[in-house]
Amino acid sequence: RLIGAESKSAQEEAIERALRPKRLADYVGQAKIREQLSIFIHAAKRRSEALDHVLLFGPPGLGKTTLAHIVAAEMGVNLRQTSGPVLERAGDLAAILTNLEPHDVLFIDEIHRLSPVVEEILYPALEDFQIDIMIGEGPAARSVKLDLPPFTLVGATTRAGMLTNPLRDRFGIVARLEFYNAQELTHIVTRSAQLLNVAIEPEGALEIARRSRGTPRIANRLLRRVRDYAEVKADGIITREVADAALSMLDVDHGGLDLMDRKLLSAVIDKFAGGPVGVDNLAAAIGEARDTIEDVLEPYLIQQGYLQRTPRGRIATPAIYRHLGLEAPGTPAA
Ligand code: ADP
Repeated sequence: RLIGAESKSAQEEAIERALRPKRLADYVGQAKIREQLSIFIHAAKRRSEALDHVLLFGPPGLGKTTLAHIVAAEMGVNLRQTSGPVLERAGDLAAILTNLEPHDVLFIDEIHRLSPVVEEILYPALEDFQIDIMIGEGPAARSVKLDLPPFTLVGATTRAGMLTNPLRDRFGIVARLEFYNAQELTHIVTRSAQLLNVAIEPEGALEIARRSRGTPRIANRLLRRVRDYAEVKADGIITREVADAALSMLDVDHGGLDLMDRKLLSAVIDKFAGGPVGVDNLAAAIGEARDTIEDVLEPYLIQQGYLQRTPRGRIATPAIYRHLGLEAPGTPAA
């Protein structure tokens, strides 16, 4: 269900897997997280222990799943992958946990969406590598304690604030992923172009990078669309001009804002006089889910200084009036 802009086809999933860096050394950007993980992984391996549990948070497409796979690869163990909404009953999680091998990585995406009963079994599993499961029904039912192999939970969430405190407290390593800068994204686009066998000039890669909302998944997606354009409308080579023409056709503006971004910002400006407007009113006005606004759209707009989040609601900043070529209210006439 995650989320309008984020729904992925099977083909897209396959391409994403192919473009995923496999080792820490190939993971671009996020220097602080990379350094920390590399130290903790070395230490755990030296002591022959499982790595401590890791919580990764940040907007979609910034590399949480990629990092979970890298942790498993660097530890030299298997990765089992599931997600919060998929684990409906306690038994679903128990089945996975009891099948882990020592030091394995269990990756739970959207971990803030675990049901309370499932979260309940997770606590002792994380803390003591034990679970209590109920066997049988009715008067004959009894609880049995099972030992688990030591394992590493890697949890991913778009917002750390949505986790319950007891769950958050059980992660020894907590890392917040940041948006990528244009240089890092240029590196990612160039690497992806090589893997996909696409001819691209450095200025073409930079143009895509600058207009990718700081997000590797979007950069890789735009690269594929620009490639299509280059093959049909040009000679197949992605130059800066080709990238610019293709991105304009895709309604990605020069600041990298797409249609949804501009729809949201225009609503704040036109329908709510620049704000403050509460997120529920905003969601109703543009016909998007509140979660999509908070997880997908807003974080980048806030980071870019286009939108401000205040206790009374969202406010459009002077920067976005300028960006959209509008006059900010209260601006003295020139
Ligand atoms: P998330 O789990 O945070 O939604 P993913 O890990 O699925 O994001 O990343 C989406 C895509 O972006 C992946 O296919 C991967 O190729 C690319 N990607 C993400 N982070 C990086 C990075 N640091 N370096 C290179 N590519 C990355």
